[in-house]
Amino acid sequence: MSDYRIETTCVQGGYAPGSGEPRQIPIIQSTTFKYATSEAMGQLFDLEASGYFYSRLQNPTCDQVAAKIAALEGGTAAMLTSSGQAANFFALFNLCNCGDHIVSSSTIYGGTFNLISVTMAKMGIEATFVSPDCTEEELNAAFRPNTRAVFGETIANPALTVLDIEKFAGAAHAHGVPLVVDNTFPTPVGCRPFEWGADIVTHSTTKYMDGHGVAVGGAVVDSGKFDWMAHADKFPGLCTPDESYHGITYAEKFGQAGAFITKCTAQLMRDLGCTQSPQSAFYLNLGLESLHVRMQRHCENGQAVAEFLASRPEVEAVHYCGLPGDPYHALAQKYLPNGSCGVVSFELKGGRPAAEVFMSKLRLAAIETHVADARTCCLNPATSTHRQMTDEQLLAAGVPAGLVRMSCGLEAKEDLIGDIQQALEAI
Ligand SMILES: *Cc1c(COP(=O)(O)O)cnc(C)c1O
Repeated sequence: MSDYRIETTCVQGGYAPGSGEPRQIPIIQSTTFKYATSEAMGQLFDLEASGYFYSRLQNPTCDQVAAKIAALEGGTAAMLTSSGQAANFFALFNLCNCGDHIVSSSTIYGGTFNLISVTMAKMGIEATFVSPDCTEEELNAAFRPNTRAVFGETIANPALTVLDIEKFAGAAHAHGVPLVVDNTFPTPVGCRPFEWGADIVTHSTTKYMDGHGVAVGGAVVDSGKFDWMAHADKFPGLCTPDESYHGITYAEKFGQAGAFITKCTAQLMRDLGCTQSPQSAFYLNLGLESLHVRMQRHCENGQAVAEFLASRPEVEAVHYCGLPGDPYHALAQKYLPNGSCGVVSFELKGGRPAAEVFMSKLRLAAIETHVADARTCCLNPATSTHRQMTDEQLLAAGVPAGLVRMSCGLEAKEDLIGDIQQALEAI
């Protein structure tokens, strides 16, 4: 499939049925797989043969959908996980042990921020957070001898900052570690981080990839470009024998292209079991088949809504990298030339009370904590996700009380703008 354009890969990647086989990816709803001899099954357990034995580790439906995502990102291997949280945890924990350290952009999804700063800290993995806008010097100063990974989001949820992927990749590689990029918001239709130097890509497939709000899921993709053996001292998990797997050395046996995902499956999925169900993978694939068509419309609607909001007197500020005045516009032109995403955030002049009236008057846009599906939705962090904070604390966190995050769906942009206009007029 690698010779085809991304639109074709969205539709047909990952699965090539033979004559007389199902046209659509079959849902293999089976926990286990049958073998004729113990010897044949033993070969699978030894990772000497490829095949399936238990759906906690691998399932054909999930693997076909993962293969499509690998092709979309231009990677060598991928795996599905039960959620985006699990994908980011697996990507980082496949690199880090107790006593190691991560450098991360500070503007990342709240769940990932907690994962790294609280839960992984309890496991003895420390982190230094840097502004995505930091200078190269500031970025280099965040590294320690025990740093094992750099992390950031192509477009951050909900801050909507754009990551300078080349800057972060350059610093990571100068320190002999990979760059992990969460590419959930642009999807590979908008940006392929491997082309700019990222080594591992993660997704919350719950968002645009699914696109219809039906199944929580995640994915981890390997570029196959990071030379683990050249930095063997940093990555003993990949470069020295795994005693829990008959002394296999992943980087030797599976090479640069296969080591990362094989270890992630054989160790982390085996022990932690955050697997995606074949039914969810099937839904995910339906979303992927139209991803290229939908992303174009999400971006068009996001752009139109952002431009409309920027023209309104009730609005203090609009954050959307597609607007020429946005601080991330130049980075967006470089990394996201075909559009960014459908999520726009804006601050109402009247603060919390204005946001409450505005949201209560919306008819099309529903109040939800979700983003990135077909139906437009919005959220005022001050009265929902961040409601325990005072106005001063909200400002310090970069979430002013009047901030509204709106995820533009696939409706007609004229109807969305009409809905927003009548709600603004009610303030
Ligand atoms: C939603 C989200 C996650 C977490 O994904 P879940 O599927 O909800 O676990 C991680 N990263 C980003 C950028 C997200 O938007």
